[in-house]
Amino acid sequence: MKLIDVHSHLQDVAFDEDREKVIENAKLNSVSDIIVSSLDLKDAHKTLEMFKFHSSIHITMGCNPCILDEDEVFRIQKLLRDRIEEIVGIGEIGLDYYYIKGEQRKKQIEIFKSWIRLAKEIDMPLIVHSRSAGKYAIEILLEEECHSVLMHAYDGKVGWALEGADNGFYFSIPPSIEYSIQKQKIAKALSLNNLMLESDSPVLGPCRGERNESANLKYTLKKLSEIKKVPEEEIARVTSENAIKFFDLI
Ligand SMILES: [Zn+2]
Repeated sequence: MKLIDVHSHLQDVAFDEDREKVIENAKLNSVSDIIVSSLDLKDAHKTLEMFKFHSSIHITMGCNPCILDEDEVFRIQKLLRDRIEEIVGIGEIGLDYYYIKGEQRKKQIEIFKSWIRLAKEIDMPLIVHSRSAGKYAIEILLEEECHSVLMHAYDGKVGWALEGADNGFYFSIPPSIEYSIQKQKIAKALSLNNLMLESDSPVLGPCRGERNESANLKYTLKKLSEIKKVPEEEIARVTSENAIKFFDLI
């Protein structure tokens, strides 16, 4: 059995003490590949440097949606174009209405649209963060006619998830599905053909407040198997195939 963690922050300081052990533990728990997403300019450089010799770790470059400094965003976009051969996608990027309120949301939307246009121009998939903004993020992605989309850790309304899925969007489910009723509902409503597995480590583990890691994909797998009444092997096969196709992994 082979699992793919499509969204992690393995470069985070939370793993500085034992990163190699965490990678090893992922392999022992059937996680063959990990997609690592950077969150700002410094993080992008760090991530590129850290994983250049790991064939099973793939990088996406993006910007935390709470960063509203256009100069930084522009510099990340330039770095992304320069290092395009080393990355497999754009993200995470998106909207965060939990932290960003009022007038500032306009700027956040502008920045989000600039990433969407870049993704279309260079033909790269998008990994989208949408905390407290699921509906708005999906609405904009549809307006912009973007179809290569992975909504990560989405916990918005089921109806909007279905709308996204109808347009070919994927949704990745983290181990916090263990206790998140909303994520359980979303997983139930969507077809397995639109799902992938993610850790979002070091956060969103199966137990609140504990450091999460890629090996915990086994909890998502078990829960999805229960919810969808499909054997774990089948969930693993379909979600991995979806990830390979989406990120064009060889
Ligand atoms: Zn994340």
